[in-house]
Amino acid sequence: MASETMLKAPRPTQPMRLARLIAMKEEVQDRLSRVEADRRRQAKPPESDAQERAIEFENDEVLDRLSESLNVQLTDILTAIRRIEVGIGNRCAVCGRRIDERRILVLPQATRCRRCA
Ligand SMILES: [Zn+2]
Repeated sequence: MASETMLKAPRPTQPMRLARLIAMKEEVQDRLSRVEADRRRQAKPPESDAQERAIEFENDEVLDRLSESLNVQLTDILTAIRRIEVGIGNRCAVCGRRIDERRILVLPQATRCRRCA
């Protein structure tokens, strides 16, 4: 008689979460370096036309905001990775309660529970 294979339901285990976070980190870093490259490209030729200058200024603001938001994302991801590494990845950074697994599944970078978010 063949022994039955126990099939466990997939759970967001810390190694899986860590792998997802590392992939997210690489993606955000990649996008950041592209934004920085765009910014450098724009900074180079000073356009003489006033209208073009205005457009460039607008683009600069868009790139600034994008870069800012990407940096915030990167910080969140790095914080979550660090918390997992020291063994408190499932704990809310504010109240210390356990972060719901479904929340972690949707938001691997979460460091706060739903109540404290
Ligand atoms: Zn909390």
